[in-house]
Parts: sequence; C-alpha cells; structure tokens
Amino acid sequence: DTTIFWFRRDLRLTDNAGLYHALRDNEHVVPVFIFDTVILDALEDIEDRRVEFIHQTLAGLKAQLEALGSSLVILHGNPVTLYRVLHPRAVYTNHDYEPYARERDGAIQKLLEKKGIGFHAYKDQVIFEKDEVVKDDGKPYTVFTPYSRKWKAALTPFYLKRYPVEKYTGHFKKIKHQPFPGLEDIGFQRTGAQFPERVIRTGIIEKYDRTRDFPDVHGTTRLSVHLRFGTVSIRKLCQVAQQKNQVWLNELIWREFYAMILWHFPHVQTESFKPKYDRIAWRNDPAEFDLWCTGQTGYPIVDAGMRELNATGFMHNRVRMITASFLTKHLLIDWRWGEAYFGQKLLDYDLASNNGGWQWAAGSGCDAAPYFRVFNPALQTKKFDPDHAYIKKWVPEYQTDAYARPVVEHALARQRALNTYKKGLG
Ligand code: FAD
Repeated sequence: DTTIFWFRRDLRLTDNAGLYHALRDNEHVVPVFIFDTVILDALEDIEDRRVEFIHQTLAGLKAQLEALGSSLVILHGNPVTLYRVLHPRAVYTNHDYEPYARERDGAIQKLLEKKGIGFHAYKDQVIFEKDEVVKDDGKPYTVFTPYSRKWKAALTPFYLKRYPVEKYTGHFKKIKHQPFPGLEDIGFQRTGAQFPERVIRTGIIEKYDRTRDFPDVHGTTRLSVHLRFGTVSIRKLCQVAQQKNQVWLNELIWREFYAMILWHFPHVQTESFKPKYDRIAWRNDPAEFDLWCTGQTGYPIVDAGMRELNATGFMHNRVRMITASFLTKHLLIDWRWGEAYFGQKLLDYDLASNNGGWQWAAGSGCDAAPYFRVFNPALQTKKFDPDHAYIKKWVPEYQTDAYARPVVEHALARQRALNTYKKGLG
C-alpha cells in the first residue's frame, strides 16, 4: 500500500509539485532518493563538490522527514534495475528534461506500467516547460527576446502558486529511521567545499542590474546551485523577481530558455546548434588547453576566473563569458572541451545552461553572439574589474616576474580566430 515519492532535482519539502500531488492523493508515501550510479560512475574525481552538496542536503531532508515521523530511504544503484524489484502502489516524481533523465524515466515508466504501477511526473523546476511557451505556429523559439516576451505575457499568478505540501504531511508513511550512507559508501570523499547559503538576498536582487557585471562584488545571488538541485523553489524566486527586479527575472527566463532549447533540440548536447559551426578547424592544442584549465594563460582575468572555478566550483557569469570566449576564439579549442571542463568543476553545473553558455560564446548556439565579436580580455578587465581587485584575489603573482607570459598575443589570436571561423563557415 506504499507510494514512492522519488526526489531528484527537487531536494526540498516546501512548494514541491510532485511531492504535493503524491501526498494529497495517497496515504502512505515513502520518500526515496537514489544515488544514480549511471551518473556517479561517469564522474572523474572521487572528490566532487556536487555529490557532497547532495549528500549534505539529504542529511537535512532526512532529519526534517524524521521529525514528521517518517524518514528518507536512500538507495545506491541503477534506478531502472532498482525499480525492477520495487512494487509500490505508484511512483511520483518531478520532470527532469535532460536527455539521459528522459531516457531513464521512459524506461522506468514502461517497466512499472507493465506491472500495473503508475508513474506520475510533474512540472516543478521551471515555470514553463516544453511546449508551454512557443511561437504562434507551435514551433519552438530560438531567439531569446521574443521568447522572454511571450514567457512574461503568459505568466499569471496561477503559475506562481505555492504547492502547500505542509497540508498533507500526515500522509508520509510512518517508518523507522533509515540508514544514512556515508560519502565513502557511495565511492566519494569529502572535499571540504563551502556551499553558497540558501538565502534569497533581496538587497542584491534590488541592485542586480547595477552590480551583476563586476566579479569582485557580491552582486549576484549565488543561488544557482540551489536552483540546480531544487533546494529553492523557482515559483518563490519568480515572485521575488517580479516584485524587485525585472533584470533579474530575465536571468531566470534564460534558464528556462536553455532548458526549452535542450528539450526541443537535444542534438546540442553533442553538436553545434548551427551545424555549419562543426566545420570549424579547431586547433585543439592539449598543452594550451591545460594552461587554460589551470589558470596559466598569462591573461590575468582569464586565469583569475579559472582559478576561482578550480578553488571554489563557482565562477562569476561575466568571467564565464570571458574564459569561454578566450578558449574558443583565442585558443581555437572546441567549445565541447571547455563545456566538459566546466561540467566537471561547476557546483551549479546544469547541462542546458552550460551548453547554452558555451555555444553562445563559441557563436555556434541559438541567439549567440556573432562570431566576429571576439572579447578583448584587457578591455573587459578595464570595464568590469577596473581596480584589478578580482584579479589580485586569484592571481596574486600577476605583474611580477613569476607570472606566466601570454600564451598568445591578442591581436594575432583575434585575426587567427576570424580567419579560421570564416574559412569553416564558408
Ligand atoms: P544570478 O545572476 O543571481 O542569476 C539568478 C539565476 O538565474 C542563476 O542562479 C541561474 O539559475 C539563472 N541564470 C543566470 N544567468 C543565466 C544564464 N546566462 N543562463 C542560464 N541561467 C542563468 N548556469 C548554471 O546554472 N549552470 C551552468 O552550468 C552554467 N554554465 C555556464 C557556462 C557559461 C560558458 C556561461 C557563459 C554561463 C553559464 N551559466 C550557467 C549561467 C550563469 O553564469 C550562472 O547561472 C550564474 O553565474 C550563477 O550565478 P548566480 O546564481 O549568482 O546568478
């Protein structure tokens, strides 16, 4: 008689769409989390900040559930294999739009339905999903501005309504406290990372349009990891955005735009959104790639960004754009290499947003910067880190003899990028 609620990218009890429906419609709901070995086995490093973030969040979630007389069942394995042997009355969860998740969920739904078990999934991590914001002819948008206009026009209070999970918490099944596996039990080690707090700083949001471009300032919310793992509700954040700052609301819409793009154009996971960009003859020099990864290109703003990423798992958006442009244009290294490196390191790593950001920088994406716009690191520094405060923090040896010489000269690199792109694009 038990019903499973399966937590994934929605690690919270409040305003959780799938959890609300599970509890409202059933009486003995058992919360489950699965450490998915398909995902974990693909991670390169046994010290992974994301895994530690999830692990730490689960500890809190489990304690909350135990205070309610229930607990959290934590499993470790391939979800498809696990669901072969589970026989609940029904399974409830929230949509996940990534290609792997779609395939996995499709397989699970099929195998459960064969056993007469319902698989119920809900929209939770976005305001509008899939086909909810499309052009008048039903086709997906590929340009952000008209998409965001339609998105805002479609937004009514209905979409921001909170799901009052607390009304039905009596429907969690009373179970004994479940074992809590250590990080080591699932093959990982502590990283000692500091995670951004789960706090919605309205002061930052109010000033966002003036502070967001300066990497040395705490001028963005740092909520990305919480959005990634669903430890905050997007409905709540959109309400705040609507009241406080439309510029910040736009950022939340970019997130949905890229999720929508990945849904409709899953080929972007491996190929350029614009196919002809896959004809560019990348130089792909492994030694130069290594200098970029480790923050030793001799371009202080680029190196500061990469060192911040390596040290903390975070990089400011402005600097993500600069480092991504540098890799693809100055070094002519395939955007997929950079995307994969960010994918290993970013705490907020999200396939859709990361891929969108990288293809934007390379020029290969939908609504991307035109390829002939090559970021000038010195000019970017002058505008956005004028006192070199950010650079000094991460590259203390810059302006000394100990600092790396530029891996390539800017004017030469710019011309080489223009020639190579032009040749490839024909
Ligand atoms: P804020 O500026 O406070 O914005 C609020 C939220 O809006 C963010 O938390 C994020 O969820 C969303 N958001 C903001 N900007 C963007 C954007 N350009 N695209 C999509 N969503 C956005 N963001 C990720 O969440 N995961 C990624 O893997 C990722 N990879 C990126 C790679 C590149 C090359 C670039 C240029 C950008 C990438 N971004 C990614 C977008 C952006 O840099 C981060 O979302 C942002 O820096 C997170 O900081 P914040 O939480 O302080 O954001």
